[in-house]
Amino acid sequence: MLFHHKEKVILIYLYCLIFFFGAILGSFAHSYLYRFDENHTNAEVTIFYPRSFCPQCKNQLKSWMIIPIISYFLTFGKCSFCKKDIKFNYLSYEILFGLIAIFVYITSDAEYIAFINLCFVVLIFLQISLDLKYLVLSTSLSLIIIVLGCFKNFNSLMMITESLIGAGIGFLFLFLINYIFNVITKKNGIGSGDFYLLAGLGSFYGIYLLPFVVLIGAIVTLAMHLLGITKGKVLPLGAGLGIGSYIILVTQNYF
Ligand SMILES: [Zn+2]
Repeated sequence: MLFHHKEKVILIYLYCLIFFFGAILGSFAHSYLYRFDENHTNAEVTIFYPRSFCPQCKNQLKSWMIIPIISYFLTFGKCSFCKKDIKFNYLSYEILFGLIAIFVYITSDAEYIAFINLCFVVLIFLQISLDLKYLVLSTSLSLIIIVLGCFKNFNSLMMITESLIGAGIGFLFLFLINYIFNVITKKNGIGSGDFYLLAGLGSFYGIYLLPFVVLIGAIVTLAMHLLGITKGKVLPLGAGLGIGSYIILVTQNYF
């Protein structure tokens, strides 16, 4: 009985830790998108640079001030320098990704897979946001997804081969469609960002799941277009593929 109780306590600690880790990633995601918003004309935006600062008074934040959630409550939701309110947006990202982290942990087969899946969810979230907001996809984020896919399938040579072939086919598939489109119409139908994103998804899911990713991604893209969640005439293929990849992540055991 006592042992049972102890196990429960440890589990609660574990979930808190996972929630907190997810919150850190959520905080990174928020800063990345915020920085992109501020200076998306220059390409100097990364997850780590420039260092976090208060959007209102531009003071650089001290290390303890970037601790997710806790710092928000320690400062009563205000900047320590200019005393202006910190946008609630920050906190909502942290809480959202904290909860996502717990969900991913519960639904993943192994601990290291959960870690990789969570990073994947965050990276795809960034790509979806960039595509819907600016009609761009980050090539460097897609390259990280390719590497992540290789790590996920690292346990056997067979799987890592499937991962690499998946990346190659993912890239070539959209590249060729665009090439043919270009020959016929003399303009690009698909952005090169989409090639890299599908390469990332091919690496992550491997060659057998890739067709399902493309199919569901295409359906989601069309649905978004018909529902009017798009900018102008351009189809947000990247966002569609991203959302499609989430659907595959949750349902892949049924394929
Ligand atoms: Zn401030």
